[in-house]
Amino acid sequence: MMRNSKQRQAILNVLKGTKSHPTADWVYEQVRKEIPNISLGTVYRNLRLMKEEGEILYLELRGRLNRFDGNNKNHYHFRCELCGRVFDIDEPVDAEIDERVARRTDFEVHYHRLEFHGLCIDCQIK
Ligand SMILES: [Zn+2]
Ligand SMILES: [Zn+2]
Repeated sequence: MMRNSKQRQAILNVLKGTKSHPTADWVYEQVRKEIPNISLGTVYRNLRLMKEEGEILYLELRGRLNRFDGNNKNHYHFRCELCGRVFDIDEPVDAEIDERVARRTDFEVHYHRLEFHGLCIDCQIK
């Protein structure tokens, strides 16, 4: 754990410092500027660990590269269908949905994910 803490912190700094919801490869390119000898495998491994520990968010979409988010609080996203960029949506997270589903199903609901799809402003202009 101690051995990896510097690498892990560098990866986290990259993720916290961007709003672009980057891919693992992009994170790797950025971290290399600070730690030139870091390997892609190390970056992948750390991202997986941070994801499992809830330190970062992991965004999946079929047919697209998976992306990571340095903001680990639940929040909503907008994904542009043309350019593939992912934006944060400044919309309060609706906790009532969780309660409603929990009541209806008797499941223990921890959170929900919501992703809007459409065209970003740049792509509307094109
Ligand atoms: Zn777009
Ligand atoms: Zn986000």
